[in-house]
Amino acid sequence: MTRQRVIVVGAGPAGLMAAIQAAEAGADVLLLEKMDRPGCKLRLTGHGRSNFTNTAPMAAFLQRFGAGARFLRPALHQFFAPELRAFFDACGVRSVAEPDGRVFPVSDRAEDVVQALLRRCEQAGVKRRMGAAVTGLAVGQGRIDGVRLASVAGAVGQGTPGTVLPADAVVVATGGLSYPATGSTGDGYAWADAVGHTLVPTRPALVGLETAFPATTAPERRTPNADSPVLNTEHRTLNTHPPIQGVSLSGVRVRLRSGTRCVADTIGEMVFTHYGVSGPAVFSVSRAAVDALSAGDAVTLSMDLLPGVEDGALDARLLAEFAAHGRQFCRTVLEQFAPRALVATCMAVAAIPEAKHASQVTAVERRQVRQWLKDVRWTVTGSRSYAEAIVTAGGVDTREVEPRTMGSRRLSGLFFAGEILDIDADTGGYNLQAAFSTGWVAGRAAAERH
Ligand SMILES: Cc1cc2nc3c(=O)[nH]c(=O)nc-3n(C[C@H](O)[C@H](O)[C@H](O)COP(=O)(O)OP(=O)(O)OC[C@H]3O[C@@H](n4cnc5c(N)ncnc54)[C@H](O)[C@@H]3O)c2cc1C
Repeated sequence: MTRQRVIVVGAGPAGLMAAIQAAEAGADVLLLEKMDRPGCKLRLTGHGRSNFTNTAPMAAFLQRFGAGARFLRPALHQFFAPELRAFFDACGVRSVAEPDGRVFPVSDRAEDVVQALLRRCEQAGVKRRMGAAVTGLAVGQGRIDGVRLASVAGAVGQGTPGTVLPADAVVVATGGLSYPATGSTGDGYAWADAVGHTLVPTRPALVGLETAFPATTAPERRTPNADSPVLNTEHRTLNTHPPIQGVSLSGVRVRLRSGTRCVADTIGEMVFTHYGVSGPAVFSVSRAAVDALSAGDAVTLSMDLLPGVEDGALDARLLAEFAAHGRQFCRTVLEQFAPRALVATCMAVAAIPEAKHASQVTAVERRQVRQWLKDVRWTVTGSRSYAEAIVTAGGVDTREVEPRTMGSRRLSGLFFAGEILDIDADTGGYNLQAAFSTGWVAGRAAAERH
């Protein structure tokens, strides 16, 4: 009996895992990658350390995928974090979990993850072709026939109808649109569309946000009264970004408002950049920001620098510190509450003169400082582009893909795996696990006769 011929397109984590599984299940597997080497993006993951999964239990893990959780569940039930860690253990890559649950190779080297996958491909008999750019799918009588290769390696998009490589099953694992220099340029979307799949509009996710300061979009703060003074932010053109660029904060609460509605809320690390804000906490709310911006809503990002301290307790602490250090400058005392660079911004916004001593701070100024520490707002004006986005949201509509096999409901013999699907999650190892799990399922299913 002839072996099932499987072509896997894309040698990222999803494609490599799919190729290994299909070959280990007995298929004759050809892995095609348009870059000169496999796993270009995988090498960059986790700042070169590869945070490839997370120890969160299944329910908490799935929650990170929002609406995509339902689709992903059957794949995770077949191949989840313990199985992935055992898989890498067996390939000689031992892993370790950090206290927050993120899992890395003990060696701290993403390269080791790539090499392990390549060794396993080799052992399973996967044939690999690098610099092999696929330009489309070849479709026969209601089923997949193979893939079309660019006639000149690397000539994607030049329109030359290249060679057709025949296959009984094809796994498309071409990734999304983020970090295009790694080869992920969204090629697979057009192929899915051409065979009748619906595409959920793509947008950058886990991405830095461009901000303007101060925020002027919070309506409840526009009408000052004696009981509730507002920050002195109105239309002052205070360019705070250069002085605070590079300042990083941990344990900060970041809330995202679309109009007056809070649409995302998280606590974590963030950093000020030349364009606005970035870092894990910002990434967590970025998907909601991009969606709200594209809906035309006014978007504000609010930061609470002291989320563990209630307003009343903070007031008592400020009072006590100002009293105890009355002869010091106000700004010096405030440095106990926030990094120096941010204190300067706080003083400017609260209109407290630089040379004011702590003993001279008025109740109104103290309230403004408190409000600044607990709820300083930036207007979100945009997001950074795909070039800087960690993942792509949107993609092949999961309602048209069989969740137990990753098989297309539009075309027999066609499978999808990884980021090309409309699934994306927070940072923390979730996205790579999703790529590996969907790749595992797709590879095994593609190896079966249909
Ligand atoms: C800087 C950075 C750091 C990250 N860190 C983490 C992390 O620590 N943990 C985590 O969980 N996630 C992380 N991610 C996200 C994670 O890397 C992706 O979700 C994951 O790589 C998606 O895997 P994939 O196999 O679906 O696609 P990709 O990794 O994008 O691979 C797709 C492959 O297909 C190839 N290809 C595309 N078109 C064609 C074509 N026409 N013909 C042939 N081949 C083609 C591409 O060249 C590429 O090699 C990070 C992402 C970035 C950008």
